[in-house]
Amino acid sequence: MSNQPQFRALSLGAGVQSSTLLALSAEGVLPRVDYAIFADTGWEPGSVYSHLDRLEKEIATPAGIPVLRVSSGNIRSDALNPDHRFASMPLHILNKDGRPGMIRRQCTGEYKVKPIKQKVRELLGYPHPTRVPKGVFVEQWVGISTDEFHRAKDADVKYMRNRHPLLDMYWSRADCVRYLTSLGLADTPKSSCLGCPFHGNSQWRHIRDTSPSEWADVVKFDEAIRQGNARANASGSRLLGEAFLHRSRVPLSQAPINHVTAAERAALRIGADEADVLENGVEDGCSPWACRGDSDVLTQDDFGLAT
Ligand code: SF4
Repeated sequence: MSNQPQFRALSLGAGVQSSTLLALSAEGVLPRVDYAIFADTGWEPGSVYSHLDRLEKEIATPAGIPVLRVSSGNIRSDALNPDHRFASMPLHILNKDGRPGMIRRQCTGEYKVKPIKQKVRELLGYPHPTRVPKGVFVEQWVGISTDEFHRAKDADVKYMRNRHPLLDMYWSRADCVRYLTSLGLADTPKSSCLGCPFHGNSQWRHIRDTSPSEWADVVKFDEAIRQGNARANASGSRLLGEAFLHRSRVPLSQAPINHVTAAERAALRIGADEADVLENGVEDGCSPWACRGDSDVLTQDDFGLAT
């Protein structure tokens, strides 16, 4: 059995850490990856798509690294399409009895993990449902920096073996930002769906204050999912409670997204940790190969509290 990978692929989310890995590989500091694979949910902010285009044009292509964009569909339109099976987003729920909840997250698996696995199998020459022979695997690079080392995980399939080169180099997020800045990429955005319910207030404010059209888009989406996704409604599985994008479980257009001062925090009896999540969102970004912490409140099984 060979212990050599068939090829090296970078899981490119186009955020700080994976952009750093791409550049380190392109510059020859790290070995060259054979592919950089970007899983497109169809609803990233415009700044992420522009950054990805730039990475491809200025860094990947000159180094001979193909950037492969893969997709399982458009998460936004799928959620609003009554004829489409929908892999649920982690929406915040307010149950009829006032209890908070959260819908079980399936979107990362569907829109990020699945299309990457499909592409890897295709590149290996064993597309689903062909069995990948024992011992055949690819090396997959995942951008995890030292400040988030706890997120480093193995892949859940034998034909992919995860590596975390930033951890091997002891690079923190700040090291990555410094390096990207030296390459003229200081404005590398945070990658995640525009309307991800894991956003903290700082991300919501950023959208509101820098991109009115994207803000209008997320506000409209928030209104549209109040009773859950369209397919669930069409099939008679309506939510008993209401769904929201913002943690406060208030319509996004009215949600308290301005910065909470220490005095306000004290008045609201919010602890430091909770205030941090409120401001900065759930700690970890949505990466296909690293857990993003789920809610600390009651988790519902999809639309399990339906009529
Ligand atoms: S960014 Fe948020 S909404 Fe998008 S796939 Fe990840 S968890 Fe789901």
